[in-house]
Amino acid sequence: MAERDPRRGGAAGCGAGVCGAAAERYPFPLEPSPADAGLAAALAEEARATIERLAAQPGRPRAMAAFDALLGGPARLEEIRASGRPVVGTLCNFVPEELVRAASAIPVRLDLVLAAAAEAGGRALAQDVCPAVRSVLGAELSGHGLFEAASLIVVPVACDGKRALARALAARRRVFVLELPRRKDTPRARDRFVEEVRDLARELERLTGRTIGRRELRAQIALSNERTALLRELAALRQAASPPPLSGRDAFLVMHASFVADPADWIAKTRALVEELRARGGGAGGAGASAGPRILLTGSPIYFPGYKLLEVIEERGAHVVADEMCSGTQRLYHPVVVDETTVGGMVRALAERAILPCTCPCFSSGDDRIVRLLELARTSRATGVVHQTLRLCQPYDTELPVVREALRREGIPLLDLRTDGGAEDRGLLANRVEAFLEMLGEVGAAGGGREDEAAAP
Ligand code: SF4
Ligand code: SF4
Repeated sequence: MAERDPRRGGAAGCGAGVCGAAAERYPFPLEPSPADAGLAAALAEEARATIERLAAQPGRPRAMAAFDALLGGPARLEEIRASGRPVVGTLCNFVPEELVRAASAIPVRLDLVLAAAAEAGGRALAQDVCPAVRSVLGAELSGHGLFEAASLIVVPVACDGKRALARALAARRRVFVLELPRRKDTPRARDRFVEEVRDLARELERLTGRTIGRRELRAQIALSNERTALLRELAALRQAASPPPLSGRDAFLVMHASFVADPADWIAKTRALVEELRARGGGAGGAGASAGPRILLTGSPIYFPGYKLLEVIEERGAHVVADEMCSGTQRLYHPVVVDETTVGGMVRALAERAILPCTCPCFSSGDDRIVRLLELARTSRATGVVHQTLRLCQPYDTELPVVREALRREGIPLLDLRTDGGAEDRGLLANRVEAFLEMLGEVGAAGGGREDEAAAP
């Protein structure tokens, strides 16, 4: 039996075995079922419908049309295919895209949560896994274009679900498993992750046949840092005005466009948006003109086109003014700080940027997430926090009591919502949100804060 790198699987092109310790694993039985036929079309239809609802927001900035085009149709996928460059699919927020681009490949973040995809993924894996993991697997089985285009998928092992996902995907794709340290506050743990990222760099070089050079890596880091600076400008604009000049839904669309967009193109489009918002001078954006409650969003990630929660909140007159989500602001917010411009020094800087400012609860050390939440609540002048827990998402579920207590101490009202990402609970969520917003109105009038105590659905 041929030896093979344990991180790489899939029928398609494992390359030469490089890891002498590795043994072939029994393959995960991953085949589409007849019920998965038509799923790709259903996913495309969901994307189109979400874009249509976003476009219908009154007073929406004109510059948002460019982001609709990036995510609402097949144009970007066709562009990626036409480039002839290898595509590297990524999950989570731990994969340094700069390395992928410096190796002359195209990174695309593949995460999504959609009921139809989750159902398909659950048939193959198990239904009692979080809908984010099941959705990714379902999209793979559906022949989703971005998955089909990927020559390699990098799966960070952030939780048990992601570990299972890595094994399942490896039955069909070349997969690189990026192991994460459980804690990030010790030099040893950090060094181990730097080694992981070095291994990833070598894998990317094998994939593309290109060496990651110093000049190219430096240029890609500079590009990412420019993107970060612009995202911060946009975040500051959202936080400063009341009502904010851009709806939370549109802000998420901008951030989700970065999952697939070329960074220079994203910068040009976002620059145009920021200029339009500045020219408008204040809060006349798609969220409408009323200065409703200001909401800070946290918890399990939201992905395009699954904007149910954002819609439920904003259709009731509140504004999502900030978020602490790996799929939102956290994705782009932190620059790469390079001390040493050798390739090794830059790889270290990328690895550190990936984990040190990360607030994902998969880490067992520190209170970074709580600190960040309280900071965001203050800077965004949030009047309430909405916490989403995807069904069966243990990392967020088990950290909720700590979040609850921290917010209670600060007198910041919290609404804790659970969902499986499907449409069925929309009415239930709407009722809970409505009651919470009413309560915020009363609290605002009384000048105090309290937690929403009603049972979660
Ligand atoms: S919350 Fe953490 S584990 Fe979940 S997708 Fe984000 S980075 Fe990954
Ligand atoms: S962190 Fe939660 S939502 Fe993300 S993959 Fe893990 S269990 Fe799923």
